[in-house]
Amino acid sequence: MLNTDLQSYEIVILGAGFGGLGMGAQLKMRGIENFIILERGDRIGGVWRENNYPGAACDTESHLYCYSFYPHLRVSKMYADRDELLRYLDAMASRYELMDHISLDTELVRAQWNEEANEWDFELGDGRSLKGRFFVPAWGQLNRPVVPGFKGLDSFAGQYFHSAQWPADIDLVGKKVASIGAAASAVQYVPEVAKVASQLTVFQRSANWIMPRNQIVFTQQELDAFERTPDLFMQSRNKLHAFREDGYARTRHGTDAQKEGIKMAMAHLAAQVPDEALRAKLVPDYEFACKRILRSDDYYPALTRENVALETAAVAEFTPEGIVAEEGKRHAFDVVIFGTGFASQAFQGDLQVVGREKQPLHSRWAEGAEAYLGMSVPGFPNMLMIYGPNTNLNHNSIISLLEIQQRYIIQVIEGLAHSRQAIDVKQDKFDSFNDRLQTNMLSSAFSSECSSWYKNAAGKIINNWSGTLDEYEVLTAKWQSDDYNYLS
Ligand code: NAP
Repeated sequence: MLNTDLQSYEIVILGAGFGGLGMGAQLKMRGIENFIILERGDRIGGVWRENNYPGAACDTESHLYCYSFYPHLRVSKMYADRDELLRYLDAMASRYELMDHISLDTELVRAQWNEEANEWDFELGDGRSLKGRFFVPAWGQLNRPVVPGFKGLDSFAGQYFHSAQWPADIDLVGKKVASIGAAASAVQYVPEVAKVASQLTVFQRSANWIMPRNQIVFTQQELDAFERTPDLFMQSRNKLHAFREDGYARTRHGTDAQKEGIKMAMAHLAAQVPDEALRAKLVPDYEFACKRILRSDDYYPALTRENVALETAAVAEFTPEGIVAEEGKRHAFDVVIFGTGFASQAFQGDLQVVGREKQPLHSRWAEGAEAYLGMSVPGFPNMLMIYGPNTNLNHNSIISLLEIQQRYIIQVIEGLAHSRQAIDVKQDKFDSFNDRLQTNMLSSAFSSECSSWYKNAAGKIINNWSGTLDEYEVLTAKWQSDDYNYLS
């Protein structure tokens, strides 16, 4: 159980999702015990706790979507479903004895740098306060669901909810259902909803580039072999890593790899959707990889079912009965699902983070979030973010990047173990890093014309990393202590 008497910690980690739990595990591996993980939910798991919609699964290969120090040796499929990923995180928390460090149902409302004490003061939602020398926010980028403010939505007499807030007791059998949104979450729940609803209408504002997924279910013999010889698992992981790194070229303007990606996606569409009119609606009108490239084998077939319709006219308004589309067509619905994504831009959400000279992080980031190596911000000493600005990946596993960041953070913590100094990243290092990143972004498909959660309102990419994962690893392999000013 958490020792609630102990109110001062060496390290305060925010969030018990993949990022925070991996940080905790790596600290334990180094024999560092004086840390707490604050989690507002009632269980660990982060986005995998929150997203419990039918069909929720990972579209990154399982051998990559786990930590190298804790390989998911008995994962049953190449694309694991949500429950299996939660079980992996539970097992990891148990293996590294993390539960004693985790405070569930604990919301952090304010983190403020204390200039005199050279440490962070934390206020919790229940009125308790804590202190910590290092602040490691692992707050995620996709946990604030957005339901657009459609005209008349309040008048709708049926039930509506966001895909990440799927009601446990909802029964869609025989119902007339709408999905607003047709992206990563929708391509997973649409095939499941289509199986039970009497009628499903998918409102698609933009089509997506969708690649085949090709699920692999491991045999008992394969699983036994991975467990007996983890090197076999690691060989598979290394191959997938190399394959995914090659895929980075698909995210760059006009490359042969991008052309090849387009060809594969178009062939997948042609193979799965025989109807020409439907197929035409499913061809994206923007550059390949501008948004996340999706992987699905059952989304297109679901759209070809008798009881499923694809609506490309925009939603004009809601009425008590349902939706009026822009061209005037009226649809009646019992249930509307909003697969409309997340507020991905304000990383800190409602949390108030206040740095040196009482500067709030939200004003530091008024023009868009930025960080040095995705981890530090000048004026916010000893704050080291996991999955911060410009660290999301389109082409490779985010778990590999989180692991790299955790190793860097451990170097900082160990490097400062014998002093009470704090580090504050140098402004010129921060500026030149971000200038290089944004220059590199100009050749990326992420910066081309499309709506995506990678961009802020001004069109600047603030969520994604601009290079390969290997490049990120080289940049962060060794903590460069000269990149920081020292406060004592
Ligand atoms: P999303 O990618 O942001 O997509 C939101 C969808 O809602 C898009 O189709 C968007 O259309 C539509 N939309 C938003 N506002 C709308 C409006 N006012 N009117 C009509 N349509 C509207 O959200 P998501 O599908 O939840 O996925 C978010 C991210 O979560 C993914 O990119 C991925 O990183 C992660 N995710 C991962 C997995 C996995 O397998 N690992 C699974 C699910 C999600 P436009 O495209 O036109 O904007």
